[in-house]
Amino acid sequence: MATGRNVMRAVKVFEFGGPEVLKLQSDISLPVPKENQVLIKVHACGINPVETYVRSGNYAIKPALPYTPGTDVSGVIQGVGEHVAAFKKGDRVFTISTVSGGYAEYTVASVDTVFSLSDKLDFKQGAAIGIPYFTAYHALFQKGSAKAGETVLVHGASGGVGIATCQIARAYGLKVLGTAGTEEGMKLVLKNGAHKAFNHRKKDYLAQIKEEAGTGGVNVIIEMLANVNLANDLQLLSSGGRVMIVGCRGPIEIHPRDTMLKESSIRGVSLWSASKEEKHECAASVLAGIDAGWLKPVLGPEYLMEKVAEAHKDIIHSQGALGKMVLLTC
Ligand code: NAP
Repeated sequence: MATGRNVMRAVKVFEFGGPEVLKLQSDISLPVPKENQVLIKVHACGINPVETYVRSGNYAIKPALPYTPGTDVSGVIQGVGEHVAAFKKGDRVFTISTVSGGYAEYTVASVDTVFSLSDKLDFKQGAAIGIPYFTAYHALFQKGSAKAGETVLVHGASGGVGIATCQIARAYGLKVLGTAGTEEGMKLVLKNGAHKAFNHRKKDYLAQIKEEAGTGGVNVIIEMLANVNLANDLQLLSSGGRVMIVGCRGPIEIHPRDTMLKESSIRGVSLWSASKEEKHECAASVLAGIDAGWLKPVLGPEYLMEKVAEAHKDIIHSQGALGKMVLLTC
């Protein structure tokens, strides 16, 4: 084995349930890369809300038990499968998916989900790219058909996907309105590309957004909590406006008539469902953004692997997001 080690620490889920089912194990065999895979020494792994839904067992996707969560790792290539020419031992990389799970000291990933990590970003930032930035691009352009000069509302802009969306939308020439639930969150949103920020915990914030958007209304809404906001979103849209449902944690009642006069669209977004070509396009935009310097992941709370259960509790019961939550694995 290229690492000189046979076992590693990794978080395992043996049964679906609450955060307490996340068990840190210290005797897990190192995964071995197959011919089109790479072995990565993980430095950090992004924590995404979806990993809590999957862990609970109440989600459409149920991995075979036991499994290790985590898709967005950053680290260093430790070994490559026999058909891999794109990477070599020692390369700094980040991923948008893993085969063996990212909440671990080492992981195996398929080579087509691995990208070079620029020296401009550290490993923690590398772990904040994958799902947030790829989802942001997918929602804005591939599903939302956003165009330069349009107005986008990032409804929930202070977390991982929200900040990514603000940075990308600003770089591509949109007018960016973002919401957060705290003053600090609003400041962060403004620092990361939003022209204006609003507090989604304040009663009058929708009226403020309406005023800011003017008579034209908002062309695209990137919605992080549709079960709370969808009915209101329909009131904010322009003629031909689009709501992209990125996040949703329950049902909501809407009046379909609210879509008719403006011929509005409501569209679900899932990075899981993006095609290979779409992901390729997301990657091109993300890598160009890092190179040009406008794509800078913002880090929120950091957790050691021992505290992974706390991290899963905190991401769902957040008092106010301030960037991307990451797990430190070494
Ligand atoms: P996150 O980092 O935990 O951020 C959550 C965001 O939601 C924060 O900005 C938070 O703002 C905001 N929020 C809280 N209450 C809100 C409200 N009433 N109205 C609008 N926004 C509100 O999570 P994330 O990684 O950015 O993900 C956001 C959502 O998208 C999650 O539901 C996640 O599961 C989903 N997601 C979906 C996909 C997909 O492919 N469809 C991919 C990635 C993520 P404050 O904390 O400042 O209040």
